[in-house]
Amino acid sequence: AAKANGRACYRFYDEEMNARAVEQLKMEEELRDAMRNDELELRYQPQVDTRTGEVVSMEALVRWKHPERGMVSPLEFIPVAERTGQIIELGEWVLAEVGRHCHYWDAMGLKPFRVCINISPLQFNQSNLPQWISEFLKRSGLAPERLELELTESAIMNDAQTNIEKLAQLKKLGLELAVDDFGTGYSSLSYLKRFPIDTLKIDQSFVADLYRPDGAAIVDAIIALSKTLNLRVIAEGIEDREQLEYLVTRGCDLLQGFYFSHPIYPEDVPDMLRHDFSADLQIEQTNASLN
Ligand code: C2E
Ligand code: MG
Ligand code: MG
Ligand code: MG
Repeated sequence: AAKANGRACYRFYDEEMNARAVEQLKMEEELRDAMRNDELELRYQPQVDTRTGEVVSMEALVRWKHPERGMVSPLEFIPVAERTGQIIELGEWVLAEVGRHCHYWDAMGLKPFRVCINISPLQFNQSNLPQWISEFLKRSGLAPERLELELTESAIMNDAQTNIEKLAQLKKLGLELAVDDFGTGYSSLSYLKRFPIDTLKIDQSFVADLYRPDGAAIVDAIIALSKTLNLRVIAEGIEDREQLEYLVTRGCDLLQGFYFSHPIYPEDVPDMLRHDFSADLQIEQTNASLN
């Protein structure tokens, strides 16, 4: 019986894998159409300076407006695009679109702010990444310091020795480099010190875990590490007042999350940039503890 059961189980698993492969193929095709048919859109989520309450940067986040399924989350299609290699074309679209939006905002006379762009591991591993970015900067005329690349910890730590050179090439272009989802990978601290990076982005899972002592300990450790290495530190996924107060008290430089704003349309960026969050950042010292 055990054997029969095992086989049934195996077959079930097989079918499930098969269904998933079919699903992926379908998505691959649909995504190809999506890029042709202008079904992709960018949203921007503000990042707030904890000392001034000013919005100093925005993270570009891609959305797929599917004709039948409605908004499809990047958590669904980015991994597919990464496996199929479509992320390269998608990434080119994102960069061009960001360039277009920046021109639109600049023409309105807005204060300059940084735009953060997610770079997937496959994109990061392209040998021509620095050249590609450099060409974009030339073509768009965008000041390099306006651009921040968010790289994942695992992408840069994998083959860290080689990546020091690549990061240095990117830095030479004058842009900013951030490590996204920091704390979820396996950073070698000695490499981290040698990487020419500017920002550590605390993964939102730790912010969500702030109520647990170990969650808070990890956040404290990352902030301390940032101070030691002289890096800017940002926390993402701030949803409530307690998380905000904790992170402000601990000296986190920037905050991003639904508490301030969901990702917004490019047309709404000008108003958001003028918004002053300083009243939200005022905290009474006595409240500044989670326990
Ligand atoms: P990420 O780079 O870590 O982006 C942060 C994600 O957290 C975004 O999800 C954002 O909408 C969400 N978020 C922001 N504030 C909160 C909050 O307070 N609570 C919660 N629960 N979530 C919050 P989104 O937009 O669904 O993107 C998911 C992931 O997809 C991103 O994670 C990034 O890895 C990837 N992604 C998005 N756009 C792009 C892109 O243009 N290129 C690449 N390569 N990846 C992208
Ligand atoms: Mg990101
Ligand atoms: Mg992240
Ligand atoms: Mg994430």
